[in-house]
Amino acid sequence: MTQALAPITEVIPVPTLFGTDDPERIVFLATARSKALAPIIEREKLYVIINDRKHVRIEGWTFLGSMSGVFAVPVWTRPIADGWEARVEARTLSGIVVGAAEAQCEHSEESGNWTSKDDYALRSMAQTRAASKALRLPLGFIMVLSGYEATPAEEMADDTKEGLRCPQHNRKLREWSGGKVLKCTKKLTDGTYCTYEIANPDYSIDKQAGAPPGITPAARLQAAVAAANYPGGFREFLLWHAPELIGPGGGFLAAKVTAERAQALIDLLVDGVLKEDEPESPTPEPASDSGSPAPLL
Ligand SMILES: [Zn+2]
Repeated sequence: MTQALAPITEVIPVPTLFGTDDPERIVFLATARSKALAPIIEREKLYVIINDRKHVRIEGWTFLGSMSGVFAVPVWTRPIADGWEARVEARTLSGIVVGAAEAQCEHSEESGNWTSKDDYALRSMAQTRAASKALRLPLGFIMVLSGYEATPAEEMADDTKEGLRCPQHNRKLREWSGGKVLKCTKKLTDGTYCTYEIANPDYSIDKQAGAPPGITPAARLQAAVAAANYPGGFREFLLWHAPELIGPGGGFLAAKVTAERAQALIDLLVDGVLKEDEPESPTPEPASDSGSPAPLL
């Protein structure tokens, strides 16, 4: 049971949390706490289900901590390039550090929940994450005995979507434009964002065909083009197949897309363009002689 704590070198062994070194006594006490814990977590819904597993939220961890005489103590917070970072220690009442962790919360996180949030909210979440991580070190095994995952819910928020990464920043790509594309959202030093993006492979044209009525024809069209991995992206598609949908300023005239027009273009995409290696223009746009059309925006 104590092997879960082995990788942590800066904390003292867990037996002090139970006031004994006797393994049988530790198991007895840990089991007793875990049995007391589960009904409270269930009754107060202090968990989040991720991939069919229950991850306990910070409230559940602090409750277990207070049962065990361990408290999360913020040590510092500091601003980072795109958010906040915090360090929290798990300490006993006598001040002994039994766990410690640092965590961050950034505006550009994959979850998308933090894009427009105020700084104080990010600072607070960085602390919450660090706290749940710090408490996990000494208390994780009791949580497991209670039937829950050892990873706190707040820590999972950042790790649920493993997968494709930006080749330049090694950052997880985030769903964007309603899931149509996967985008690197790394904020660069000049204040702009990384422009790397790809079509979301999980966002299929078939899925769009059965899309709920709330999705606009323009959004359907964009999704289909993204899903088709159209060379050059959506603006290139418009230039070649629907230049009337490009406004004088170069923007996409989404409001002009009727359901019929969207369907016709999606049919074109599915039946025609996708069967070709190169996109062919059914419009009288200039072809190779004048080079590629200039990118919009
Ligand atoms: Zn990037």
